[in-house]
Amino acid sequence: MESKVYFTSMKISHHESLLDRLEKLTKAAGIEQIDFQNKFVAIKIHFGEPGNLAYLRPNYARRIVSIVKSLGGKPFLTDCNTLYVGRRKNALDHLSSAFENGYNYFQTDCHTIIADGLRGTDEAEIVINKEFVKSAKIGRAIADADIIISMSHVKGHGLAGFGGALKNLGMGSGSRAGKHEMHSSGKPFIREDKCKGCMMCIKNCAAGAITMTDKKSKINPDLCVGCGRCIGVCSFDAIRVDWNESSVNLNKKIAEYAFAVVLDKPAFHINFIIDVSPDCDCDATNNVPIIANIGFLASFDPVALDKASVDLINQAPMINGYEDSKNNHFTALNPNTTWDAGLKHGEKIGLGTMNYQLIEVK
Ligand code: SF4
Ligand code: SF4
Repeated sequence: MESKVYFTSMKISHHESLLDRLEKLTKAAGIEQIDFQNKFVAIKIHFGEPGNLAYLRPNYARRIVSIVKSLGGKPFLTDCNTLYVGRRKNALDHLSSAFENGYNYFQTDCHTIIADGLRGTDEAEIVINKEFVKSAKIGRAIADADIIISMSHVKGHGLAGFGGALKNLGMGSGSRAGKHEMHSSGKPFIREDKCKGCMMCIKNCAAGAITMTDKKSKINPDLCVGCGRCIGVCSFDAIRVDWNESSVNLNKKIAEYAFAVVLDKPAFHINFIIDVSPDCDCDATNNVPIIANIGFLASFDPVALDKASVDLINQAPMINGYEDSKNNHFTALNPNTTWDAGLKHGEKIGLGTMNYQLIEVK
C-alpha cells in the first residue's frame, strides 16, 4: 500500500502567487473531503523562538485559516509550551513570542491558543499502549479539537536529526510533562541555586517524591514516577531534566505521540521545504539553509509526507558551504542522530507508510 503525497514547486511563473499554489495543493490533496462544518480545527504550527527567522511566515497560516473557514470550520493556531527554558515555556511568554513573530489575529485572521495552558500542565492523557508510551500527555486544546491540521517547517534537528510533520505533531503537541517523557529516560532534578523554596513542586507532586530542607527542594528518584508535573509548576526554572534519550528512542516516542494526536480524528498535513535550516526553530538563531527552497507537500499520511520531504531534500545539492552528504543530508549535519527511526516506527504502529506516490500539482 502506498499513500498519495501531493507536491507543488516554489518555482512559479511570473505573477503567480505562492499562496494560490498552496491553496491549489491542499485542494488537490483532498482537504475539502474533510467535514469541517462547525468543527474546532487545531492548526498545529511552530511560532518560532524569537530571534529565529527560519520559522514559517504567518501568511501561509492565514491562507490555510481562510480555506478552513470557507469550509465551515472554526480554526485556531496552536502549539504547546517548551520543556527547555526559553521564551515559549509558559502561555504568556509563548503568546508574546508568537505575536512578536506575526502570529496574531490581525495577521492570521484567527486566534492563537497555547494548547497546554498557562504553565504547560493542562493536558489530556490519551491511552495508546504502545512500546514506549502507554498514555500520551497531549496539550488539552489539541486533544479537544475535532480536526488536526499540521503545518510543518521542514529542517534539521540536533537530537532528532530531522523535524517534519511527526516532530511537529508528536513533540510539539506534548505538554511539558509529555515533552519530558519523550526527551528523558530519567527523572527531573532540582538546581539548588535556583530553588526559592516556594513549595509549589511539593504541593503538586502526587507521588510525594519531593522534600524540603533549609528552603531547598530535593527529588527522591526512588519515589518519583517521572510525570513531569513539577517542571511546569516551578516559576523559577529550578527543575531541570536529563536530556538523555537516544535519538532512536526519541524519534520512536515522537511517532507514538503523533499517533496519539491524530487518533480517531480527521487529520491533514502540510510540509514546507523552505529555508531548510540545519537546526530547529526552537533555536533563537538560524543558520543559512542547507539547500535551495523546493516547495510545499500535502497528504493525509504524515509518515509518507515526511519520507517524501526528506527524499526531495536529499535529491537537492547542498549549498552555502555545507559539506556534500552523499544523499543523506540530515545525518551529515547531525551524525549522532537517526532521522528515519521515527518514520519506521510510525509505519510499525500504523501511523502511516513510507511508501508513497508523489503527485505534482502545477
Ligand atoms: S517549585 Fe521550584 S522554586 Fe519552588 S520549591 Fe520547588 S524547585 Fe524550589
Ligand atoms: S516528575 Fe512527577 S513524581 Fe517526579 S518529582 Fe516531579 S511531580 Fe513528583
